[in-house]
Amino acid sequence: MKRNNNTLYTALFVITIAVITLFTLVYTSSRGFTDEERTIIHAASPAARAQEYDGKLMRVWKITQLDDSLLLRQTAEPLTKEMLETEEFRTLVDRMLITVKDSLDEGVGIAAPQVGISRRVVLVQRFDKDGEPFEAFINPEILSQSDSTVFGMEGCLSVPEIFGKVERASSIRLKYRTMQFKDTTETVQGFTAVIFQHEIDHLNGILFIDRMVE
Ligand code: ZN
Repeated sequence: MKRNNNTLYTALFVITIAVITLFTLVYTSSRGFTDEERTIIHAASPAARAQEYDGKLMRVWKITQLDDSLLLRQTAEPLTKEMLETEEFRTLVDRMLITVKDSLDEGVGIAAPQVGISRRVVLVQRFDKDGEPFEAFINPEILSQSDSTVFGMEGCLSVPEIFGKVERASSIRLKYRTMQFKDTTETVQGFTAVIFQHEIDHLNGILFIDRMVE
């Protein structure tokens, strides 16, 4: 009886295709942003405001829209060193900065999910530094926090027309990567610490209304 090699060849073919697909997936995910993310990062400004800020203003995703709300509730993915070296990343941070400083709806901090990118990067206005600059923080996490807390009124660019009182730690030990992907830890206090807690919550799908006491 003649041996039938067809099954063997088919199996080898399927395995080869599977290996190629796997390597492509690993390569694209390590390389950078997905096609969908790239589209959002380069998307035109909202039509009514397209002429302002050289078209850099991004649409702010809001909980009042279902699709926006679903993304705002996701846990955001970390950024890799390779992603920080991409043109998309620089464009994203640049446009997030324009958006948070927009005089029509001005913020003191913004997280990438608020512009539709489920990645772990936030911009925070450093009220604890001279000139109160906005700075970007990559993959930020709170290592520890003080037992002492403060109550303050909060609002959010993604939560229209609601302000409420939230309890936050008055001091936090923070770990993050800089724009150069340098591993950094630092202790932050006061209002700036409150902004960090609000923005890092966004990366975990948490909104201030979840913590609102009144
Ligand atoms: Zn917010």
